[in-house]
Amino acid sequence: MVDMKQLQALFGGTFDPVHYGHLKPVEALANLIGLSKVTIMPNNVPPHRPQPEANSQQRKTMVELAIADKPLFTLDERELMRNEPSYSADTLQAWRQESGEKAPLAFIIGQDSLLTFHSWHRYDTILDNCHLIVCRRPGYALTMSEEAHQRWLDAHLTTRVEDLHTLPAGKIYLAETPWFDISATQIRQRLAHDEPCDDLLPAAVLEYIHQQGLYR
Ligand code: ATP
Repeated sequence: MVDMKQLQALFGGTFDPVHYGHLKPVEALANLIGLSKVTIMPNNVPPHRPQPEANSQQRKTMVELAIADKPLFTLDERELMRNEPSYSADTLQAWRQESGEKAPLAFIIGQDSLLTFHSWHRYDTILDNCHLIVCRRPGYALTMSEEAHQRWLDAHLTTRVEDLHTLPAGKIYLAETPWFDISATQIRQRLAHDEPCDDLLPAAVLEYIHQQGLYR
């Protein structure tokens, strides 16, 4: 009997702002594979990349508002509160050290992130520390653009949910989550043009954005 309570999942991102394209696929994923908790960890963006428009405190508050009525999610502020940039590889390594060798851990990403995964800082260490669970995202290829990357993907793929719950790390699972054609970029652009965004993110987050005068 597989213990479905063991698998811990982390969901990182910039969340500038958090939206339904983040929340809904992960809620569906939790039902599909049996996840009882997902930790959302907003990141600090490295200085050489475009900076978020909302500051750390605002991104944190938006996540708090978005998950207030969703017990599946918790917020981890550790990357946000750090002054230096955070790399997923380092965070996942620290998480492994805290959790012990045997705990099944997973990092949730969208399909777009899988396609650029090989450009991430120390990407090759990530599967040593956790599984990757990939949510579908419309508009992104389902296969890797380079043959070597596709071979890497094929070598790690699993279709067995039990693998995620019983093995500590090392598998990639392509989850059949519903597609949501929503991005933070699109929301920022719509808000800058005074266009409605009610279907794209929770009302409490939208209210906060207006109250703070963000993305204008
Ligand atoms: P931006 O438009 O500013 O680049 P984003 O909407 O892609 O932002 P991020 O905070 O960069 O949001 O994404 C965090 C994680 O959520 C990433 O792994 C990304 O792939 C995933 N994600 C974001 N939007 C979706 C979506 N609509 N469907 C599935 N996954 C998504």
